Amino acid sequence: MDKRMSNYRADFPILDQQVNDEQLVYLDNAATTQKPRVVIDAITKYYYTDNANVHRGVHTLAERATEQFEGVRDKVARFINAPTREEIIYTKGTTEALNWVAAGYGKKYVKAGDEIVISCAEHHSNLVPWQQLAKRNGAILRYLDLTADGFIDLDKAQDVINDKTAIVAVNHASNVLGVVNPISKLAKMAHQHGAIMVVDGAQSTPHMPIDVQALDADFYAFSGHKLLAPTGIGILWGKSELLAAMSPLEFGGEMIDWVELQETTFKKAPLKFEGGTQNIAGVVGLGAAIDYLTRIGMNNIKGYEQELVDYVLPKLQQIEGLTIYGPPDAKKHTGVISFNLKGLHPHDVATALDMEGVAVRAGHHCAQPLMRYLNIAATARASFYFYNTKEDAQRLVDAIIATKEFFQ
Ligand code: PLP
Repeated sequence: MDKRMSNYRADFPILDQQVNDEQLVYLDNAATTQKPRVVIDAITKYYYTDNANVHRGVHTLAERATEQFEGVRDKVARFINAPTREEIIYTKGTTEALNWVAAGYGKKYVKAGDEIVISCAEHHSNLVPWQQLAKRNGAILRYLDLTADGFIDLDKAQDVINDKTAIVAVNHASNVLGVVNPISKLAKMAHQHGAIMVVDGAQSTPHMPIDVQALDADFYAFSGHKLLAPTGIGILWGKSELLAAMSPLEFGGEMIDWVELQETTFKKAPLKFEGGTQNIAGVVGLGAAIDYLTRIGMNNIKGYEQELVDYVLPKLQQIEGLTIYGPPDAKKHTGVISFNLKGLHPHDVATALDMEGVAVRAGHHCAQPLMRYLNIAATARASFYFYNTKEDAQRLVDAIIATKEFFQ
């Protein structure tokens, strides 16, 4: 186990506390991640010394705020290997980004009878917007099937993606099944049929290097709060020609070019989409998070999390009565581990683990169709990040065993 990596834990003040008289083990990172001191400090410094509205002012504080706000756009572009900074749009998060693609692009270009293809393992944020679009435009919503391990099934995808497909929209990494999906292969299929590829990167961007060009995506969305940044800031990346063709959703200050009594022209992307005063402090926090992650190295993060999974998954698999969802092979499993303990409701399991200081989530994880596909109502879910340690992983195993023995 990489010793250097476990040292990063000390950068996260919140982790240094007791919960229910036990040292906190935070394993709810798929829901949201904790914030390192550098991110908290960057936001505090912004409010202490630089706070002003961006773009409009000529005074020094406005220039400083604008420089930071626009500088983060460059950082994000580099972080996901976007060809240009103008393709980086600030949003509230993944949900808003995906809704904007559905309403700003889909509503305009999807015709009656066209097909929108998603998978049955989507988070509601990448399902309901397409369902609404399909209803509104008279399109058909079709679902990709999964392999036994929980990956999107590429063989069966050949039967679903066809010349009627207008949009394929899937998750890069699942928030339930612990899989990373074969995006570039799906994108190739989509493009062969003239469809565009939309990628929900909420669960992948925090954990691995992202290259939107290598993925061959057309739109890519992620949330800051799942990668150490504050809540309320996220990113939509889109190819410039698609952003040029897409309509803005928020009309008002900043996004206009010229306003007459009866007509308005809009700025070009990205500003065309960023109506009104933006979450400037959130952007500053996102920039600090990206700097911090880049210093550690996304490949190092990926490698270390794989070591944690290699350690914990076989131990969990040995617990009798514990069902684990997703691939049984640790090498194919991400640090999102959903499970059920026989005879116990996942909420009771999560409550029992909390009594041991171990924070996990329980519920349908905003993926009700997936729960029905798996024929269950809910799961408990432990999700790791690079500040977790082997000791955290062992605490999870011990707490599950203690829970099982307590209820037996
Ligand atoms: N997509 C996936 C796969 C997610 O896990 C989540 C959040 O859990 C989202 C989308 C929505 O992200 P947000 O709530 O930050 O908009």
